[in-house]
Amino acid sequence: MQLSARSGRIAVSPTMKVAADAMKMKAQGIDVVDFGAGEPDFATPAHIAAAAHRAIDNNFTKYTANAGTEDLKRAIAERYKIDNGVDYSSSEVICSAGGKQALYNSVLALFGPGDEVITHMPGWPTLVEQIKLAEATPVIVRAQPENGFALTADLILSAVTARTRGIILNSPGNPTGALISEADLEAIARDAARSGIWVLMDLCYDKLIYDPVPHNVIGVLARHNRDHSVLCGSASKVYAMTGWRCGWAVGPAPVINACNAIQSHSTSNVCSITQKAVEAGLRGPQECIGEMLDEYRKRRDQLCRWLSADPRLGLKKPSGAFYLFPDVSEFLSPDGFRTSADLAAALLNDAHVALTPGEAFDAPGFLRISYATSMKELERGSQRILEFLAARTGARAASH
Ligand code: PMP
Repeated sequence: MQLSARSGRIAVSPTMKVAADAMKMKAQGIDVVDFGAGEPDFATPAHIAAAAHRAIDNNFTKYTANAGTEDLKRAIAERYKIDNGVDYSSSEVICSAGGKQALYNSVLALFGPGDEVITHMPGWPTLVEQIKLAEATPVIVRAQPENGFALTADLILSAVTARTRGIILNSPGNPTGALISEADLEAIARDAARSGIWVLMDLCYDKLIYDPVPHNVIGVLARHNRDHSVLCGSASKVYAMTGWRCGWAVGPAPVINACNAIQSHSTSNVCSITQKAVEAGLRGPQECIGEMLDEYRKRRDQLCRWLSADPRLGLKKPSGAFYLFPDVSEFLSPDGFRTSADLAAALLNDAHVALTPGEAFDAPGFLRISYATSMKELERGSQRILEFLAARTGARAASH
């Protein structure tokens, strides 16, 4: 069957494939422990859900302005004012169906054939695929495990050429949890400003940072490259709203206008009910985020404690997001599990633990374990992983 060249260049999201495989096994009645999901297990906070109920009761169920209601755009801008000290007008904001669409609109608005766009790996695969969908050329730099996958200015700027049009950064990063430092981001932003290079920031996990390190990405970009920066945020992870589908892009009005035009011919506005709910999230009490973060921290620490029973697992506590990204190269060999993808497949099929192989993030030799699930599941799953590794790759401590 003849499909477009464009669709031939991309594949379905590998992280979504793990979720689909696990779901299939669960549907067959298999007791799968799911560490694959990249989404909070928490319920959407009650005050946010209540705003959605009110929207339905008030028949707020029609099209809205394509870029989102004025109220929601203002709520997004006000959040950045309160949290980051930066002023944006509502003409600099567009609401989209998740951070994913906000990023996609921005990439389509800014890049095209002949443009090089720098992004980093290990990283979220969608960023690369979106660059390809825009028919631009992804240029991938590799963050290194030895320094916690740090995104340094040297690393990013070493990839700049005369054709570079953009740099896309994700911090806190999926799957590593690494944060870009303000100093490195400032150096990147200053250099980009001099060369007219766009900096796109994927801030999907921006409130999920465990230690009080300075991470005012929005402030840094506003000070050093405001005219060429686009911030893509999302309600999905921060407010436990993955299914509601709302994210946003914030940037110079001409870019937002272009995103608006693209969105007007593709999906139109975000669901009206969702918009009311997200507005309540942004304007309402923010304590729910801290509560979820505290729970993620406990889970991260406990999971690391459990898994450290096998010292061959290269564990490092992430600084943000909710993924552990252990180095599993010690378990790989030519006559055993040859790749981390083989290991992940065996863990799913034989130990019934779903997790995502590093290959999905262009990082073979690693596994991504999502701890956005209950402590009980983390206990069951880590026990299964330890027993599996002890039985199949040589005896080591196997219980906790
Ligand atoms: N960026 C990163 C790094 C992500 O992991 C995700 C979701 N997995 C997103 C953006 C997009 O999420 P959403 O579209 O639900 O906002």
